[in-house]
Order: sequence, then structure tokens, then C-alpha cells
Amino acid sequence: MGALMAGMLDTDLFLAWTEGAARAVRLHRDRLTGLDAAIGDADHGTNLDRGFTEVGKALTEWPPTSPAQVLVSAGTTLIRRVGGASGPLYGSLFRQLGKSLDTPVTLAGFAAAFESGVQAVERLGKAAQGDKTMIDALAPAARALTQAVQEGADEHKAFERAARAAEEGAKATIPLRARKGRASYLGERSIGHEDPGAASAALIMAALAEAAA
Ligand code: ADP
Ligand code: MG
Repeated sequence: MGALMAGMLDTDLFLAWTEGAARAVRLHRDRLTGLDAAIGDADHGTNLDRGFTEVGKALTEWPPTSPAQVLVSAGTTLIRRVGGASGPLYGSLFRQLGKSLDTPVTLAGFAAAFESGVQAVERLGKAAQGDKTMIDALAPAARALTQAVQEGADEHKAFERAARAAEEGAKATIPLRARKGRASYLGERSIGHEDPGAASAALIMAALAEAAA
């Protein structure tokens, strides 16, 4: 369907994104939970796997007719179904992203809406880049996406750049000391481990790039 309207991001792309994110989280569930075992309570992979499985069920049961509906539905389901801090945080990301989209969705519109989604996560979590959270992957991804759009990149290139920035941001959490969330209780002992939420954010951004490929 993407080929019907060049430059527009359609409902199918966003469905493919949520499905790809669900597959990636399932595939990496044990690694995510292992990261959370080191600096949290060993539930991040299982939390997100359950959440994205429920996202898929909800989208099948109530088929969305717009990109905004896909994303708001996904966000609402994550808030309802994921125990733990990451549910409301990812839920806010997807809900705010969906609510900020104008129809039809252009790449530039998506980039601006994604920035707004990341800001919603920052507000809810009272976290900034450098606190060793999912923000460390999401904020660089948002900036990379906006910059790619300004440079005239197509959706595939722009999402690839966002995914790479998220991955680099996740790896950059390793030497940081956690200042938010459960990992912050560990103080110095949080140093030397990748943040689980930043790792999952990198997977979710990679799924977007794959959906557009
Ligand atoms: P919980 O910590 O409740 O067990 P999860 O294990 O599912 O929840 O998710 C943990 C992840 O949530 C962390 O690795 C971090 O990336 C993210 N997180 C936790 N607290 C915050 C916060 N205040 N702001 C942003 N992200 C946060
Ligand atoms: Mg946890």
C-alpha cells in the first residue's frame, strides 16, 4: 500500500511496526530480562513480551483504520497490560505519537510527532538523557530522525538512522550510573550494565526501520 502514495506513511506500515516490535521483543525477551536481572528486578523482557502480545490481540480484535489509531491503541494496551515502569512509559510514547499525527502522515509529520512522544516519556519519567533509561535511546533516535528529514532522507534511510542512533544510545548507557527507576537504587553498582529499557527501545526503533524496508 505504501507504493500507492509515495512519501506517505500508511496504516499498514504502523501495523507492521507493532508486529515487528512484538517479534523482536519475543526474540530478545531473555536478553532483556537478563539485563534487568543485573540492575533491576528481572522482568523487563517478560513485561514487554506480554504487553506487545496484547497489542497484537487488540489490533486484531479492533482493526484500526488510521496510523493514529494503531499507535493510540498500542499505547493504551501497553499502559493497561504491562506491569512495571516501562508500560506507562512506552504507553505514553505511543499514545502521544499517535495523537500528534496529522492525516495523511508524512515523514516530517512523523518525526515531529515522535519528538512529542519522547517528550511525553521525559515528562512522565522525570528523566533526561544521561539518566540511564530508555530516554538514552529514544532521544537520540528522535534527533536523528528530525535531522534525516531536514536533510531530505527517504523514510527507509531516516528510520535506519534513527535505529542506529537508538542502538548507539543504548550501548552508551553501559558506563552510566542510573539516576531514575529501580536501577538507581544500586548507585555505583549500576555502572557497567546496559539499561534494559534503552535496549528494548533500540529493538523497537530497529523494527520501524525493518517495517519501512
Ligand atoms: P520496572 O523497573 O518497574 O521493573 P521494567 O523492568 O519493565 O519496569 O522497565 C525498566 C526500564 O524502564 C528501565 O530499564 C528504564 O529504561 C525504564 N525506566 C524506569 N524508570 C524510568 C524513568 N523514570 N524514566 C524513564 N525510563 C524509566
Ligand atoms: Mg523490571
